[in-house]
Amino acid sequence: MFGLGRSVSGGSKILREVARLQVLMGIFDKMAQHRHEQVAFCYDRVSGLRSIIAIHNTTLGPALGGTRMWPYRSEEEALDDVLRLSRGMTYKSGASGCNFGGGKAVIWGDPGRDKSELLFRALGTFVEAFDGRFITGTDVGTVADDFVWAKAVTRYLVALPEEHGGSGDSSLTTAFGVWHGIRACADEVFGKPSLRGLKVALQGVGKVGYRLCGYLLEEGAEVTVTDISKANLERTTKAYNVKVVEPDAIYDVECDIFSPNALGSIINDETIPRLRCRIVAGGANNQLAEDRHGDELHRRGILYAPDYVINAGGLIQVTEEFPVFSRERAMQRAAAIYDSLKRIFAISKRDGIPTYRAADVMVEERLKEVASGRVYVRRHGGTAGSIERS
Ligand code: NAD
Repeated sequence: MFGLGRSVSGGSKILREVARLQVLMGIFDKMAQHRHEQVAFCYDRVSGLRSIIAIHNTTLGPALGGTRMWPYRSEEEALDDVLRLSRGMTYKSGASGCNFGGGKAVIWGDPGRDKSELLFRALGTFVEAFDGRFITGTDVGTVADDFVWAKAVTRYLVALPEEHGGSGDSSLTTAFGVWHGIRACADEVFGKPSLRGLKVALQGVGKVGYRLCGYLLEEGAEVTVTDISKANLERTTKAYNVKVVEPDAIYDVECDIFSPNALGSIINDETIPRLRCRIVAGGANNQLAEDRHGDELHRRGILYAPDYVINAGGLIQVTEEFPVFSRERAMQRAAAIYDSLKRIFAISKRDGIPTYRAADVMVEERLKEVASGRVYVRRHGGTAGSIERS
């Protein structure tokens, strides 16, 4: 097969083989870097599907994570993204107390142009082949209706449209969890969880921010909002008694809590010096432009509620779809984000580290604990799978 040293063309074959092996080694190196368990490259000639499914860690349970569809510039970019995102899911699931691991799928394609029934059926066939080790749903570039196509061939889907058995819009559960998370922050900084009389600057009154605004006001907080959408602002000012500022002015609002519920990367070099708050806590994903901005908040004595912990309500909701969805249970578990954050704040103080790092430590401690439980099972005659995770 390798055709070692037979001819010039044999030589170029060798070079090609070496190059191929280098690519393979590169992938194993990348997997080893953050201990990914499995990466599957999925190709379907008929539909043109090119997808990568990455399973990062199944210590806590089957890998759960959405499917992102994106016109990546290269295979490598797609691979890097799926490795990064699947690892993020391990931490998000772990921090929210879900018995699920971390995984993710990416489809290399243009969501505006390349979607088809065949494409999602093909994806579903690959998901089904994991036999429950990987469960997926929507992410950037995909919507719940896409997965109705996949439903014909796989059982392992979450967040389908309600009429297809899904649990529906998750923003209510997310906002509920964020509200409880903010109460945990208030308890930590001001000595009591009540938000009465506290001033909140709320960026983004979309699906999550609007509902959150209601919870905050109900509890007696004073809320200043902003949004770039006139319609969403109007809906908010019609329903609630709030102050409104221009989008860029929200960072300068004198307040107790700055609550980002719109975009990512809004905690950065430009905005941190402008913040006039004691707490940053909101539903937006990827709030820190870089980790060092979490360090800087810590240095300035601003308590940061790690985004993937405080906004886990949506994830909690879809994990409650098994075996039959219970909204009550989902809301109870979203309320427990309060306790997760309090544990993280305790670790932050114990280890003298910023909260975004303490969140990772909390999950790593849980993974270790559960993994060592597996050791116990095996020593006593059980049949648990891979345990060498430390
Ligand atoms: P959404 O699109 O309904 O709302 C976002 C709002 O932010 C919109 O009203 C938009 O006009 C506004 N916005 C955008 N740019 C802005 C800017 N520069 N200044 C002020 N406002 C701006 O989305 P959503 O579902 O409410 O999600 C909000 C955030 O929470 C996102 O970061 C999302 O990834 C994250 N999140 C949402 C959920 C969920 O269940 N919906 C779960 C976890 C995380």
